[in-house]
Amino acid sequence: MLMEYIICHYAEIGLKGKNRRFFEEKLVENIKKALRPEFFEFVKRISGRLLVKISEKGSGEGKKIAGVLKNVFGIAYFAFAVDCPQKIGEIKKKALEVLKTQKFKTFKIATQRSKKEFLLTSTEINEQVGAEILKKLKKKVDLENPDITLFIEIVEKFAFLYTERIKGQGGLPVNVSGKAVTLLSGGIDSPVAAFLMLKRGVAIIFLHFHAYPYTNKASIEKVQKIVKVLDKFQQGSKLYLAPFAGIQKEILLKTPAKLRVILYRRMMFRIAQEVAKKEKCLAVVTGESIGQVASQTLENIKVIEQVTDLPILRPLLGQDKQEIIKMARQINTFEISILPDQDCCVRFLPKHPTTKANLKEVERAEKNIDIKKLIQMCYNKITKQLC
Ligand code: ATP
Ligand code: MG
Repeated sequence: MLMEYIICHYAEIGLKGKNRRFFEEKLVENIKKALRPEFFEFVKRISGRLLVKISEKGSGEGKKIAGVLKNVFGIAYFAFAVDCPQKIGEIKKKALEVLKTQKFKTFKIATQRSKKEFLLTSTEINEQVGAEILKKLKKKVDLENPDITLFIEIVEKFAFLYTERIKGQGGLPVNVSGKAVTLLSGGIDSPVAAFLMLKRGVAIIFLHFHAYPYTNKASIEKVQKIVKVLDKFQQGSKLYLAPFAGIQKEILLKTPAKLRVILYRRMMFRIAQEVAKKEKCLAVVTGESIGQVASQTLENIKVIEQVTDLPILRPLLGQDKQEIIKMARQINTFEISILPDQDCCVRFLPKHPTTKANLKEVERAEKNIDIKKLIQMCYNKITKQLC
């Protein structure tokens, strides 16, 4: 059976008034961006759902299209559907046509009617279409545990029929919640943190600090690959690459070893703030998780974040490493993250990094380096890539 439409449903909780329209419009935009243009004729809002009209070229590409829609945040579930005139006789005919192509013994009809002026109620449609299937196909009704459910949706001028609901990612459409800079290290955690923020509708600009040419390009190649994977959740991702070796050298030469990691992180946040300003981002995202490494104690987190007044979003704060790894595998970043690299911050790591940084002590150490100059030096050499 040729499927002509896709109906996309979203979770409606909290969607009222203007909020709902904004949400729907973003979702339409994101679906259009994600799908190949030759695969659809239009994507539009119809009461409480979105409708995609599949083009002739797209009609044989169901698998590809489903693969793409599964990664569009905001869709709770979607279904490939056929349409027929809004008359009970036509609906019965189409129902027979759809079910004839399927293998099953027991069935159920489930009608949703958002157009209340349709002459029959949902129950009456279920009964009448069900009776027709019983008579013509000699199958059994099972309302509890049917082999197949035929869904009918009466909405605006359409009567849609379909038999399979495909689960989407849920969440909110990317970009309904503004933009944030994610500090992307190439490790396991930060890609997962970016994913979780994307899922809540935050568009992500990626920022990676590297020590090339003092290290090889492995960490850069890794983050490029990671951004490519995450780009399927938000098309057109931007990756900023910031050379960090100059800053590290100054910190290494002029400040106490035990404060190194804290000072690196403070510099990263300062530069992230500059990128955020340029990209009109409202927050910074990191992959930090409490206590995972020495720099991630509450004391250190507090001292590190003093340098910026942007909110720092840390979606993994309360997650165990194993939970993070599980998510990283699900989103296909894990295998890239575990490739060997030369992380800029692992170079010259002190034997005893402080776990209880003291702000005064840190500020005193920073007096030995020219913060403004170092930020400028790094920022001027930042490169931007579209992935
Ligand atoms: P990850 O697995 O994300 O690297 P981690 O457990 O190794 O995290 P840290 O090395 O302390 O933890 O880094 C904490 C966070 O700081 C990272 O999640 C990331 O957001 C940021 N970060 C660390 N190194 C870099 C880097 N080279 N470039 C950009 N961000 C970084
Ligand atoms: Mg790391």
